[in-house]
Amino acid sequence: MTPEISLTRTRTPLPRPDDSSLSFGKVLTEHMFLMDYEEGRGWHDPRVVPYAPFQMDPATSVLHYGQAVFDGLKAFRGDDGTIRIFRAERHAKRLNKSCAALCIPQMDEDLIRRSFEAIVAADHDWVPRAPGTSLYIRPTVIARDVMLGVHPAHRYTYFVICSPVGSYYKEGVKPVRILATDTHVRAVQGGLGEAKTAANYAASLSAQQEAERAGFTQVLWLDGVERKWIDEVGTMNIMMKIGDEVITPPLAGTILDGVTRNSILTLMRDWGLRVSERRVSIDEVMAAGRDGTLEEMWGTGTAAVVSPVGQLGYKGDVITIGGGQTGALTQKLYEAIVAIQYGRSNDPHGWMSEV
Ligand code: PMP
Repeated sequence: MTPEISLTRTRTPLPRPDDSSLSFGKVLTEHMFLMDYEEGRGWHDPRVVPYAPFQMDPATSVLHYGQAVFDGLKAFRGDDGTIRIFRAERHAKRLNKSCAALCIPQMDEDLIRRSFEAIVAADHDWVPRAPGTSLYIRPTVIARDVMLGVHPAHRYTYFVICSPVGSYYKEGVKPVRILATDTHVRAVQGGLGEAKTAANYAASLSAQQEAERAGFTQVLWLDGVERKWIDEVGTMNIMMKIGDEVITPPLAGTILDGVTRNSILTLMRDWGLRVSERRVSIDEVMAAGRDGTLEEMWGTGTAAVVSPVGQLGYKGDVITIGGGQTGALTQKLYEAIVAIQYGRSNDPHGWMSEV
């Protein structure tokens, strides 16, 4: 039996934003989930309380050494009014895996899943209604020791906050330009690439800034040793169709085990496509782009579901993929996942959980 989650409702309800004005992550809901850890006592006091700032000593360890992990998932209001969370269990598992990578004590996975449900239930009115909108759920764990030594902390806080978000594609799925970087590295074997930790995102900022200055939207990350194997793109996993083979880099320690990646691989295997999780080099992709066999390329992630790649730059060369248009498979995958998320099609793998 996992513990009861207590609920203290806000006494000062906030006005909900208009669904048409929503972007990503700017508006937060009026409650949050909290749970504390102290050594000897374990995780305790799971509770939903009014959203409020934390008071933190300036010597709190997370502020100095970044011992922090997070995850990101979504709840959707279906056409039938039912609110459903996409793959809560898999996100709960991944959060615990990220905790393990940063020496943060494990939480009960069922309690993590229930924390998502509890916060969405408390803020159910904040799950937007307009087409393509959703409630983004952000579970986070931070180290709370107050002292300046570098060590795994003895105190932690787990919190979950939520943000109503607008449709990623207000004018239809739109291809982006990405730049393969051979100057910056996101992660190496034995490092933190598999964990969803604050440090990875801090480490990605300067390459992202450089790509934007060069007129690209996202960075395509290559491996840190040979600087030739494709890892992932921005904050998404990467997939491509070369001839009749769909290829995505394997989960070999440097990339995040994306929940969208797993869902899309499952659908493509259901459909009988030839799918390979194998190493793929930037040279193979550039050559396939030049000889016309690179039909489609897309990123996968919670925010966008899929993000088609229209152009890929590398060492001064730029290739255009699929005429710079969204490919048929990319579009079909987008529609299939979205239909499951909004309860418009059946859910053969049991990915949705009702709140
Ligand atoms: N890679 C990275 C580095 C990410 O931050 C994300 C977003 N969580 C992904 C891949 C895609 O993962 P998911 O499909 O679970 O959102």
